[in-house]
Amino acid sequence: MKELSGTPVSAGIAIGKAFLFTEDQLPEIPRWSLKKVQINNEWERFLAAVKSLTRHYTAKIKHVEGAAKEHAAILKAHLMMLEDVDFQEQLRNQLEKELQNIEWILWSVSHTMVQKLLAAPDAYLRERAVDISDVSRQILNKLLSIQQVSLANLHEDVIVVAHDLMPSQTLNMNKIHVKALVMDAGSATSHTAILARSSDVPAVLGLSTCTKEINSGDMLIVDGNAGKVFVNPDNKVLKEYKSVLVRFEKIYLENFTLRDVPPQTIDGAHFSLKANIELPGEAGKALKYGADGIGLFRSEFLFLTSGGAANEEKQFKAYRTLLQAAGSLPVKIRTCDVGGDKVLPNFFPKDEKNPLLGWRAIRFSLAMPQQFKIQLRAILRAAVYGNAEIIFPLISYVEEYEQACALLEEARSECRANGQQTAEHIRTGVMIEVPSAAVCADILAQKADFLSIGTNDLVQYTLAVDRGNEKVNYIASELQPAVLRLIKTTIDAAHNEGKTASMCGELAGIPRYTPVLAGLGLDEMSMSASSIPKVKRILRSIHLSDCKTLVESMLRCSQSSEIEHLLDEFLASCDKSA
Ligand code: PEP
Ligand code: MG
Repeated sequence: MKELSGTPVSAGIAIGKAFLFTEDQLPEIPRWSLKKVQINNEWERFLAAVKSLTRHYTAKIKHVEGAAKEHAAILKAHLMMLEDVDFQEQLRNQLEKELQNIEWILWSVSHTMVQKLLAAPDAYLRERAVDISDVSRQILNKLLSIQQVSLANLHEDVIVVAHDLMPSQTLNMNKIHVKALVMDAGSATSHTAILARSSDVPAVLGLSTCTKEINSGDMLIVDGNAGKVFVNPDNKVLKEYKSVLVRFEKIYLENFTLRDVPPQTIDGAHFSLKANIELPGEAGKALKYGADGIGLFRSEFLFLTSGGAANEEKQFKAYRTLLQAAGSLPVKIRTCDVGGDKVLPNFFPKDEKNPLLGWRAIRFSLAMPQQFKIQLRAILRAAVYGNAEIIFPLISYVEEYEQACALLEEARSECRANGQQTAEHIRTGVMIEVPSAAVCADILAQKADFLSIGTNDLVQYTLAVDRGNEKVNYIASELQPAVLRLIKTTIDAAHNEGKTASMCGELAGIPRYTPVLAGLGLDEMSMSASSIPKVKRILRSIHLSDCKTLVESMLRCSQSSEIEHLLDEFLASCDKSA
């Protein structure tokens, strides 16, 4: 038996078989020269690869048709591309002209086509870029005999063991069969961790070497509460964990009984507890946990699931579904926050040196105003069906917020010109995730309807720590004096302007820190749905007056360890008086 320790990022216990997922990076494309007499042979190789893929696609379409119409439509589009005469003619001409192997020709022709399409003003053409790159990749895999394993195609219950998963891979994995997730990389605020929590998949990340220590088929126990992974456990540990599992399931069910009790302190201070979600279908679960609204809908996951782009109608339907599920409760729809680790295939330059400091979130949206307005029109139209609010991510200075609002007004006029109904008024807010925004929160609070603090990024940018990098994660404490002061500045700035201050970073969902956030004066805390009952339980056991005194002392501390120590003492005194 081996015992590995990492960061517990999603609570729960799972016992099951390991599935080692290894990344299928496209290797460097081989390149060699041909003689004229070899051209026909080379072309035959290409046609054979296409034929085999065509058979595969035809069978797959038959399998999904009826059950998954959208999936079938994508497959049909890919099949058409495989058989496209113009595309094949272009490849054949290039092959004859350049006299290089077909892998190289295919890669260079498709790469040029993709770049051209991406620069096109028409969104439909830009979307085709994704298809071309996907289909070319499939043909290259065939030619180079690369086996592609996808987490979307799992057919039995497994515990996924990976080095590092992109958020899009985590989103698209077949969650029915994923019982837990363990990774070498990652931390509690990485997007993969956030997605695991939203789906209630127990997860331990930042294990550094789990892909070397675990083989496919090994028996694993994953303890997402303590951050432990047992590889091929002995009978004693197995027996212990089987009983922990039963206890855990009981606690899990008890959480739902808190649904209707108010989230308020013993001395009567009320807080709004909302849920962070990634897909419209998660709203129902959030309400079951007692959320009084959606404090953050990460809309970019609509784009990551649909392979790069979601058109206006698809987006409109998704937002409408979400708003209808929430009824009259408010829903904060965050505009597309791509970039960083959430890369839309083909939309981002592969060589961007510093993606976290680069083309991300509102910067990307403002650089693509036509695309951005598609999203804004879809939200404005859907807002007729519920109580929508909009938040703009990663605002660094006030002009970005003003430009975003101006585009929102343009989008509204375009809807009117099209005879489409839109919501009369929609509240707009700023995410405070960059130190410059927190420092100037007073200016932003004058303009915006509300401020929402994204601590995951605020910590990352304040302390200069990549939030997904387990090696420097020890620095990333939300209770560093610098972070605490920026949070306080933001909340006070909002209140001075009579606006609400909310928090939707992961900090808001950690029950240990609830007294600190209450004492700082937050109005609203938004978190993974399953954290709501835990935070509510803490709120109902504390006095706001004590929390305020605690925070006053904390703000005088010079080190995070002193702050944590004060918190330990506070929590211990709560336990004693309980
Ligand atoms: C944050 O940065 O705290 C946040 C909520 O946004 P995301 O985690 O999606 O970057
Ligand atoms: Mg963020």
